Amino acid sequence: MTDIFTPEQRHVVMSHIRSKDTRPEMLVRRFLHRHGVRYSLHVKYLPGRPDIVLRKYHTVILVNGCFWHGHGFSSKDFPLQHENPHCNLFRLPRSHTDFWEKKIERNISRDEKQHKELTAMGWNVFTIWECQLRPAERENTLMGLLRTLNLILMKNLGVRMGYNAEEEEEGMMRAAENSFSEENEE
Ligand SMILES: [Zn+2]
Repeated sequence: MTDIFTPEQRHVVMSHIRSKDTRPEMLVRRFLHRHGVRYSLHVKYLPGRPDIVLRKYHTVILVNGCFWHGHGFSSKDFPLQHENPHCNLFRLPRSHTDFWEKKIERNISRDEKQHKELTAMGWNVFTIWECQLRPAERENTLMGLLRTLNLILMKNLGVRMGYNAEEEEEGMMRAAENSFSEENEE
């Protein structure tokens, strides 16, 4: 981050401080751990160093703070990206609004790029918003995540079983061909 903040801007930054181990992210991690789902953190070789990476599920979980990632943000040049009328955690600061507007737009563009790159690499991307982890919604959000992970796992297993069956069939064909040519040689 190369922006130089005015004291006022710095105040906004400090009150929305973005750290690696934010509370929302910790909530998700503790939940996954409790349910026996193993993860890696801030994996460097993936686009945007995703927060939580579940290799077994080929899934990346992004835990987004509503302010920095512009939950429900829209502007003149930037139509609404994330439909969520219930998010009250995002509000553009009243002073230096242009500055913040540009900043949040940049963050959203970066998020979209990361999302596209990860998807193109074949990763499932699951975004959880800070406001979805508030006490009233937490259970729903996290159980939904768990259900999705189970579905992904079943789908992956299905694909793998299909692949093995094909491989086996190929092997049998090869064996048949071999025995055929051996018969001919005799
Ligand atoms: Zn939100």
